[in-house]
Amino acid sequence: MDKTKIKCKLCGMHYSEDEMSEEHYPARSVGNEDIIALDIVKMIDSFQSEEMRNDVLKKISAGESADNILGDIFDTKLSKSIYPAGRTARTLCRKCNTFLGKYDAAYLKFFSLDGEPKKIKGFKESTKLQIIKSIFGKFLSVPEAKNEEFDFLDFLNNEVETKYSGKWKLYFIKRDLSTDLLGLNDIGTGKATFDEGIVYELSDDRFIFNLMNFEKHSCFSMTNIFDILNKNYVLVKGAGNDGGYHAQILMSRLFQYTDENVYG
Ligand SMILES: [Zn+2]
Repeated sequence: MDKTKIKCKLCGMHYSEDEMSEEHYPARSVGNEDIIALDIVKMIDSFQSEEMRNDVLKKISAGESADNILGDIFDTKLSKSIYPAGRTARTLCRKCNTFLGKYDAAYLKFFSLDGEPKKIKGFKESTKLQIIKSIFGKFLSVPEAKNEEFDFLDFLNNEVETKYSGKWKLYFIKRDLSTDLLGLNDIGTGKATFDEGIVYELSDDRFIFNLMNFEKHSCFSMTNIFDILNKNYVLVKGAGNDGGYHAQILMSRLFQYTDENVYG
């Protein structure tokens, strides 16, 4: 095998780097544009800093609302643009990227309607399957999963395939305040390892998805993506009191990030 070639994660063919496309994960239209990283180290420092405190007090006494002040601090002091063009990966060839784009168009409809069961139930089954395939497809580009040989490629490649019976389960939740630290949507990707197996995470502005090779722990309430094929499904909102997989993956990323910044 030619070492300079990259294997497309969907069709398995090898291409040179410039024949690969920039795949957005998640799709650009669902929040993957100019991604801002919250600088967690700076945040901890800032909240302990006298200068910041005086600055905030001055603004409060000048009659500025707390919301405004906090928003301003996040925008100007604590966030930095890490992916100005959105987060992409060279994981798919152009043909496969275009092919999956059809599924992404279906997902955008789901996203725009907030996944509300009452509205989604009116969708055609073929559209619902495209939504499901779009999300499975996005996991092909998650960096933490780059060495994973997924068994759902045939399910994705065959547009009319309705069944997937491989080992991966895909669950999701609708974001709310319980899922987002300080109300900031973090749309990073991640991975966590449990005794039972592996959990990958991918999220966009409205939903958090976990792909895992075991049945989810019953204590974590999430919606199975295949449930959207049913006439009625329950859309789980929020991560629950324990924060679910999202909290564990987010915390491990923050600690990794902090370590890199402090000791790196
Ligand atoms: Zn391909």
